[in-house]
Amino acid sequence: MFETLSDRLDKVFSGLRGKGRLTDADIDATAREIRIALLEADVALPVVRAFINAVKERARGAEVSQALNPAQQVIKIVNEELIEILGGETRRLRYAKQSPTVIMLAGLQGSGKTTLAGKLGRWLKAQGHTPLLVAADLQRPNAVNQLSIVAGQAGVDVFAPEPGNGIGDPIRVAADSIDHARRTMHDVVVVDTAGRLGIDAELMAQAAGIRDAVRPDETLFVVDAMIGQDAVTTAEAFRDGVGFTGVVLTKLDGDARGGAALSVRYVTGQPIMFASTGEKLTDFDVFHPERMASRILG
Ligand code: GDP
Repeated sequence: MFETLSDRLDKVFSGLRGKGRLTDADIDATAREIRIALLEADVALPVVRAFINAVKERARGAEVSQALNPAQQVIKIVNEELIEILGGETRRLRYAKQSPTVIMLAGLQGSGKTTLAGKLGRWLKAQGHTPLLVAADLQRPNAVNQLSIVAGQAGVDVFAPEPGNGIGDPIRVAADSIDHARRTMHDVVVVDTAGRLGIDAELMAQAAGIRDAVRPDETLFVVDAMIGQDAVTTAEAFRDGVGFTGVVLTKLDGDARGGAALSVRYVTGQPIMFASTGEKLTDFDVFHPERMASRILG
């Protein structure tokens, strides 16, 4: 397993206990350890550089502290900078003034979109909403069925294409679902879309078509935390091809150290809003930057 960043910093400073002030050499040694730890946590290199510069600058300007030794002082700075780079405050969902609020899910196949639709449905229902899950992933033969199953587990309604009526046209299904939601008094529509194993132009065009048809209040880019640095290229492709207003990190129950979180937030500038931590619908919560910072720090 990884050596945690806290362990590494402790080692750097073990010889310095009792010393009152951080020297430039201490700060450089610290920066080296942070760099290794972040790269091991799969943070993208430009993000590592920017982060280290921010920490170095703050460490140099840090006042001599009575309460904290140099190691604790640097760990505090690193922790605060991590929280900052992860978005600071939790960003809440923005609801439309006029129902329905439309939430579109986008991401690679296998990233966990359909599961997330169920999780969001359950979560929204618990918040007093009446969500409608929409099966606009018509690429995978079983996707509609899978969405119906999670909707059933979540106790929420699902909108899926009628056989023979526009089946095969996810843009049409998505557009129809909004009218349906209005008629049936569903106040939040969650649109599940198709994802391929890799990024491709056709997928992006389809997702953009769905976006134009439903004009989402939120487009959530769903990304598997386990893909590490690949998260950056995938996020950039979805940002340019579809655009998104928030990120959902999935599979955080795996041993991913959170590098994807740090990188995606930094590179796209969009907030991470939710986190998925397992296959069950209850394995889901709003994203808390301070918890992710602790995970990275170890
Ligand atoms: P989609 O292709 O994007 O719709 O992805 P799915 O929702 O079908 O998820 C792909 C696989 O990942 C399924 O086997 C899910 O059970 C699993 N999965 C989804 N979210 C999580 C998660 O947070 N943790 C774990 N361990 N598995 C997940």
